[in-house]
Amino acid sequence: MTIESEPGCTVPMYLCIPEGEGPFPVWICLQGHGTGMHVSIGVQIDEETPRVDDGDREVALQCLEQGYAALCIEQRAMGERSLRSDHCPDCDRLAMHAMMFGETLIGNRIFDVDRAIDFIYTRQDLRKDCIGITGNSGGGTTSLYAGAILDRLTHVMPSCCFSSYRDSIMAMIHCKCNYFPGMLEWGDMGDLAGLCAPKPLVLVSGKDDPIFPVEQAKSEFLRTKKIYESANAFGMCRHVISNGGHRYYKADAWNTMNYFL
Ligand SMILES: [Zn+2]
Repeated sequence: MTIESEPGCTVPMYLCIPEGEGPFPVWICLQGHGTGMHVSIGVQIDEETPRVDDGDREVALQCLEQGYAALCIEQRAMGERSLRSDHCPDCDRLAMHAMMFGETLIGNRIFDVDRAIDFIYTRQDLRKDCIGITGNSGGGTTSLYAGAILDRLTHVMPSCCFSSYRDSIMAMIHCKCNYFPGMLEWGDMGDLAGLCAPKPLVLVSGKDDPIFPVEQAKSEFLRTKKIYESANAFGMCRHVISNGGHRYYKADAWNTMNYFL
């Protein structure tokens, strides 16, 4: 289905409903820099583009298996919303255009998430008191920022997008959609994650993730934990470190998050 998040801006989505009686908890599922949201339901986008079946990226299917609904959103400049013929992201175009309006691409993506929550609120078969958000890499980044600022999200599980700005986003060339003017005047990623308090937050890291180094993720998480404690949300945030690189880790992630569900 599609929604129009703002005039002229069409957001393609898949709504996946599990078997059984609702209303169901629902998870907003976001893909990173691949070929789009079709990866969340484990299908090909077209005959030429191979299926992605590594790295546990079929996140919506994982939700269904556990009895949760999933709302997959095509992020701006990705998949069906990319102008490239191979469906790979063309973030540069929209990140630069956003700047011309004094906006950021990450901000625009969060806006789409907020409008998708409006859609969730129209559905009798989805629970408004249990709306999670998850994704890996570029999907995790949107999950983390959206979790920090959108009050209607109740559970937040970003994967392989958490470290320190200095040692990840600023230590190597990242896609332009990761940059946020003035961010360092406010704090680092541990502070950003702290804004999710008191929501249950599970941050997932890959031990060998080369672009979101785990040592800095550990030290940033100490700050997040402190902020959660100050917000009387002791124990509501967890840092899961999985054995591998830059990918989703369904067993470790869901085993930890399900404690809060
Ligand atoms: Zn990007």
